[in-house]
Amino acid sequence: MHQLILQPGREKSLRRRHPWIFSGAVARVEGNPDAGETVEVHASDGAFLAVAAYSPESQIRARVWDWHARNIDAEFFHERITRAAQARASLLTSGGASTTNSARLVHGESDGLPGVIVDQYADTVVLQLLAAGAERWRDAIADALAELPGVARVWERSDADVRALESLQPRTGLLRGAAPSAPVVVHEHGLQFKVEIEAGHKTGYYLDQRDNRLFLKNISSDCSVLDCFCYTGGFALNALSGGAREVAAIDSSGPALALARENTRINNLPDAEWIEGDVFQLLRRFRDAGRRFDVIVLDPPKLAPTAAHAEKAARAYKDANLLAFKMLNAGGALMTFSCSGGISAELFQKIVAGAALDAGLNIRIEAWLHAASDHPVVLNFPEGEYLKGLVCRRT
Ligand code: SAH
Repeated sequence: MHQLILQPGREKSLRRRHPWIFSGAVARVEGNPDAGETVEVHASDGAFLAVAAYSPESQIRARVWDWHARNIDAEFFHERITRAAQARASLLTSGGASTTNSARLVHGESDGLPGVIVDQYADTVVLQLLAAGAERWRDAIADALAELPGVARVWERSDADVRALESLQPRTGLLRGAAPSAPVVVHEHGLQFKVEIEAGHKTGYYLDQRDNRLFLKNISSDCSVLDCFCYTGGFALNALSGGAREVAAIDSSGPALALARENTRINNLPDAEWIEGDVFQLLRRFRDAGRRFDVIVLDPPKLAPTAAHAEKAARAYKDANLLAFKMLNAGGALMTFSCSGGISAELFQKIVAGAALDAGLNIRIEAWLHAASDHPVVLNFPEGEYLKGLVCRRT
């Protein structure tokens, strides 16, 4: 097997089972591995550390498949994918209006499959391959997914920007099974959401906010609610079904808003005020017009993908949170999120505290929110904890 030998001292993070090997840690590569091929990783003294996928073009030069010497083959992917799916089985089979037919089946590094993201929506699974190793094993991964119970088709959405860092071209389309004959519909806590698997964001839907949308439903009764960055209506529809008095929702994507309207209709809910535009500009306009809300949701896109973007992103988070606080009625709540890997939970709370201070408000934190349980975080890979949220109650 090809060998990757580390610089002296650079084995420390691997001994703590962090699965990434950065280019600067590599002393030399023996053999001539292709992109995505398996390499044995050794410390400078020759000690075996891991088997990993080699990625010659990426700063993350290798990603660990396993901490023990073993073959990486179709059987490996079958095992890992079956195990990941079993971990979600209770979420998917418990049935009833309070649960769901959709879940993240594979959450990359946190499921021992670096660069592999799989979301299941009813009988459709959507696969994203984000790294050279994952790309090389596309067929084995697609086969293992197609064999899972209840899966009728595997659709690929490997068109995320991060693929460019691995020199991978975008790739989308049907991998296994027949194309869906009807729209894909997510059932979630008694609501239904149509999902555009071909053209929607990421894999089509944001499963990670499932429980946080339910949280909103439970605090919306008789409230005026503003859902900023609403996408296809996830939070807004929960507010409507929780008995909100009125709901306004903003997104910059026309197609997302069209689907949000359609989702409102299929759930027989009263319509919301859907507004197409830039949240940062519209919040200023709302503020100047004196609009006020009892509950405001801020769920912006990833403003800081890495720590290098943190400073600029921090200013944007502060700006949006300050504007939102200024529009919050006494006794009202701001549900504010960051899905930026480059912003820690601690920094995010500091930013929000700064915004509350500038707004001159007394705020108590009512809840710390995270991604739903089908997006687990393994302790050796803290980067997996990307989504953090705060429920800030104005006292
Ligand atoms: N809350 C949603 C997910 C939000 S994803 C849910 O529960 O499903 C982030 C959304 O922000 C995307 O729909 C994107 O179109 C939108 N967006 C990105 N930048 C924006 C901006 N400056 N103003 C308004 N919307 C924006």
